[in-house]
Amino acid sequence: MKIELIKGDITKIQADAIVNAANSSLLGGGGVDGAIHRAGGPQILEECRAIRNRQGKCNTGEAVVTNAGNLPAKYVIHTVGPVWNGNEEKESKLLANCYHNSLKLAESLGVKTIAFPNISTGVYRFPKKLAGKIAVDEVRKFHSDTVKKVIFVCFDDENKMIYKELLE
Ligand code: ADP
Repeated sequence: MKIELIKGDITKIQADAIVNAANSSLLGGGGVDGAIHRAGGPQILEECRAIRNRQGKCNTGEAVVTNAGNLPAKYVIHTVGPVWNGNEEKESKLLANCYHNSLKLAESLGVKTIAFPNISTGVYRFPKKLAGKIAVDEVRKFHSDTVKKVIFVCFDDENKMIYKELLE
């Protein structure tokens, strides 16, 4: 699996799937979630609502898939990152689950390229270095016949620097 690192806006990425750092309501929010729904249009939210009606909330660490509306991607994989409360062991495991479950779902959809934002490192306050290490470890551990490329999309310089070091 090839790993790429870029700085930018994930809504602009032409991958088979982009990952959203959603919240458990699946009904939209700020940060990258807001950006995806704004750029993608109402079809994404419509499908999120249908998922909610079917299964209720999305638990932390789990992932669900919708269409990508007007985005260049084919799918949006919505995963719910943990809120950082300083319980390192528990919250690290939950963040690892986000990456693992998103990759598993991507694989089941035949996705070749998938782009991840820096899940939980915004409003959810997860320490960026630790979050980056968990993200890179989980992706490196995941062996897939279908997923050929993972793109880490960093929105800020700090995350970009952290990932650059981790990937060197
Ligand atoms: P969380 O609630 O999981 O912390 P946020 O959306 O607040 O989610 O932040 C997650 C990460 O996404 C942060 O590093 C933030 O800088 C980044 N981010 C915000 N907007 C975008 C975007 N348009 N594309 C990629 N990353 C983004």
